[in-house]
Amino acid sequence: MARIVMKFGGTSMAGTERIRRVAGIVKRQQEAGHEVAVVVSAMAGETDRLVNFCREANTLYDPAEYDVVVASGEQVTSGLLALTLQSIGCKARSWLGWQVPIKTDDAHAKARIEEIDAEALLASMAAGEIAVIPGFQGVSPEGRVTTLGRGGSDTSAVAVAAALKADRCDIYTDVDGVYTTDPRIVAKARKLPLVTYEEMLELASVGSKVLQTRSVSLAMKEKVRVQVLSSFIDETAPAADTLPGTMIVSDEELEGTDMERQLITGIAADKNEAKITLTAIADRPGAVAAIFAPLADANINVDMIIQNVAKEKGETDVTFTVPLSDLVRAQAMLEERQEEIGYRRLIADDQVAKISVVGVGMRSHAGVAATMFSTLAERGINIEAISTSEIKVSVLIDSDETELAVRVLHTAYGMDATA
Ligand code: ASP
Ligand code: MG
Repeated sequence: MARIVMKFGGTSMAGTERIRRVAGIVKRQQEAGHEVAVVVSAMAGETDRLVNFCREANTLYDPAEYDVVVASGEQVTSGLLALTLQSIGCKARSWLGWQVPIKTDDAHAKARIEEIDAEALLASMAAGEIAVIPGFQGVSPEGRVTTLGRGGSDTSAVAVAAALKADRCDIYTDVDGVYTTDPRIVAKARKLPLVTYEEMLELASVGSKVLQTRSVSLAMKEKVRVQVLSSFIDETAPAADTLPGTMIVSDEELEGTDMERQLITGIAADKNEAKITLTAIADRPGAVAAIFAPLADANINVDMIIQNVAKEKGETDVTFTVPLSDLVRAQAMLEERQEEIGYRRLIADDQVAKISVVGVGMRSHAGVAATMFSTLAERGINIEAISTSEIKVSVLIDSDETELAVRVLHTAYGMDATA
């Protein structure tokens, strides 16, 4: 017997029919002899609808009241799933955030989970009752409803799994796992049986939106074993216990398997960045600080940075990227400070894409970056900026060349599926 947390996203919960299918999957897991807790999202589109109501009611809405409104989407689906489970002969009950309780801080609309009391849940599960918990919500120290920020139900599921000391947290979604790259771009993308937390964090942060990044950090910290798998299955599908999806595990667990590992685990493309170049900056101490300090103060996250070697006149160009959504703000700030920073021209470019190759294998292998650069060069793709971490190499290219770049790199690293 194991203790399993199952999480179902909004697409899986959208409507009576789908909730009925979810109930069937949950029942099957319980019949396999496990203790089961289920964390659910609101029906697809529902949270957006509720957010809009808040905006219509009051453009300067109070986040505490916003939380009361948007948390209701999950209250509905948790009750409906409990009802549906009961209708097929399961014992089930819902546990709202304040009932568990899932204690958070009081940062309404973006609260952090501080503690989950697992005692009552565990007692109910031990008695054969399926615990159905609305994701995304908690309760503040003042006893008010809080929500965790958009996409937060993944984090709820991982936090519940950690509190229950669950053997596994299965995240059921509309894809059947994590792929080497976006299968819509590369038909020969492969589903990965195993990914490490760190790889998943890098892939998530560069654009593969399977899980909320925060939930992966939490899983890594709490050592929760997470599986991503499809909820669009029937009774003939392999059981979740046979691990049909992608398991997200620690480095140690990965090393324990004799799985033949590819050097590169995944390739991600991200079009949500923009490039800014400031030309002819004085090559002196403090010049770069004058650019980046105000951006940091404004909470604008700078990612890739390159500073060229100074030319004869002691001048240098600095290029960096910011989130596309912050480009206008960053540009305005820098233009305001043109004299103070002392640059000649500001050139902004939003037609860029960041391509990243990720894999823990590159820790022990040289040549990953060289392969990337030569593969792109052969196709005439120009690299505009580069950044690296221990397990990632990223390049910035023209966004028109995104698909081509991902495809040729997928082949170059030998990742194409053979079948
Ligand atoms: N319903 C919330 C949202 O749409 C939380 C979630 O589904 O993860 O953001
Ligand atoms: Mg989600």
